[in-house]
Amino acid sequence: MAKTTAPLKITPLGGLDGIGKNMTALELGGDMILVDAGLMFPDDAQPGIDLVLPDYTYVLENEEKLRAIVITHGHEDHTGALPYLLMDLGTRVPVYGSRMTLGLVEGKLEEFNLEDAKLCEVASGQRIRAGAFDVEFFSMTHSIPGTLGAFVRTRQGTVLFTGDYKLDQTPVDGVLPSYAALNRFGEEGVDLLLSDSTNATEPGFTPSERSVSPALRHIIKNAEGRVFVACFASHIHRLQQVCDAAVSVGRKVVVTGRSMITNTKIARDLGYLSISQDDIVDAYEAEDIPDDKVVVLCTGSQGEPLSALARMAAGGHKTLTITPKDTVIISATPVPGNEKSVQSIVNSLSKIGCAVYDRSQTLIHVSGHGSQEELKLMIAMCKPRYFCPVHGEAVHLRAHAELAKELGISEERIFVLTNGETLLMRDHVVEVGEPVECGVVYVDGLSVGDADPLVLRDRQKLSHDGIITCVATVASGDHKVREVDITGRGVSFMDDELLLEEANDVVREAINRASNQKGRNADATRNAVRKQLSNFLWSQTRTRPMIIPVVMEV
Ligand SMILES: [Zn+2]
Ligand SMILES: [Zn+2]
Repeated sequence: MAKTTAPLKITPLGGLDGIGKNMTALELGGDMILVDAGLMFPDDAQPGIDLVLPDYTYVLENEEKLRAIVITHGHEDHTGALPYLLMDLGTRVPVYGSRMTLGLVEGKLEEFNLEDAKLCEVASGQRIRAGAFDVEFFSMTHSIPGTLGAFVRTRQGTVLFTGDYKLDQTPVDGVLPSYAALNRFGEEGVDLLLSDSTNATEPGFTPSERSVSPALRHIIKNAEGRVFVACFASHIHRLQQVCDAAVSVGRKVVVTGRSMITNTKIARDLGYLSISQDDIVDAYEAEDIPDDKVVVLCTGSQGEPLSALARMAAGGHKTLTITPKDTVIISATPVPGNEKSVQSIVNSLSKIGCAVYDRSQTLIHVSGHGSQEELKLMIAMCKPRYFCPVHGEAVHLRAHAELAKELGISEERIFVLTNGETLLMRDHVVEVGEPVECGVVYVDGLSVGDADPLVLRDRQKLSHDGIITCVATVASGDHKVREVDITGRGVSFMDDELLLEEANDVVREAINRASNQKGRNADATRNAVRKQLSNFLWSQTRTRPMIIPVVMEV
């Protein structure tokens, strides 16, 4: 009985609070599948944190139901949590993705000693069966090759995941979005559509990836010296266009930066990037080639401090230096949160005096996500009964919901959710269900842990207001304060003698008062010092440095 009445439960565990950590669980009776397992890179409010993962406790709790993990494409916001998840789950569950996706995933899993993961290659048009789920894959165009959407059929109804997409009519690799499949799904009946909202606030159509070719070619052809092109290492279509432009004007291509070297190798091995071996040279070989015959493909388009571009801009790269005669093209838009780092690299490059091109000067970058007209076209083709915008911040989800309304989907059939909220589908009817527990997990260096708010708060304090150590010596006989020494790091007032003298008095008073109290103990004394000093510094400087009090009896 229970078997036929169990609803299909759809739970986005991430991806609805920003661009990142995409992961959606589909559950029906005793079966579950996951679509994507991504991470998010931390922002300035999370100092010292390396990565942010979706909290997938819910998946672990239902571990025995999990039949498959489907990965739509190779970007880290869809694949990055996979090694952590598989470390927790073991490698029993098969992982499905395109050849390109699995090529990238495989490299990552090896770093985590997860070589025995079950990677199952699928292609557009293929169908797989995973418990109660029948999943059909279809091609989409995006800023990485081998991007697939997934159409999931169940006995309660169907769900269509677009994955990340734009509708590119002239894709670099010639692989068009599967319009035929989308229309076929529309005819068959799409009960619920989950569609990419990244550019839902952008009017019009996103230009084709090919449209960056003329500007790239023009700059590379006319540059006096070497041309350095920084872009996402996974953006194989962009790399292809840079390579084509270089080769067409007789320049050799040098590849530098760890992920750029890895990804170009994977993409060439798998047939996604075509450039002949003669046209690729090692960085040290570039020394022997005239400057106007060289193009350097490098990492660093996001201003990453350890990237090849950052090191070259700072004069710290092993083999390559940038001179005033050279040209640098930053062929990407900074991901929100990275603007400052990118600006700082542009400044370093400007000091060198080379020519710098970024998106503000000429068309050298286009988005991999569809704009409003493409999102509308998707809805028009799929004709979903219910709609749930995903992959975006609240503002993007809202804007996408508005577009759906314009296309005639009534408001009560549109669900703008937050992570952990669920949808239930019974016999093609969708309603909101009970939310599941859901949050984020921080990866700090090598340790994965729950967000420890204390550690984060301490780091924020340290980075904003600095640290104060306050060492007081107290006579063991009469408990009177002998000496107080206040030192600080990263605080603004260490030169202010008057303030320090007053602070000194505040500490003496705090200790004296604490020693006069009954039940006097070392902890209470230290806490009193911390509290009084903190309040005093706040009143005088409007900062709250971290205070480490040390009280010694002598
Ligand atoms: Zn993507
Ligand atoms: Zn994405």
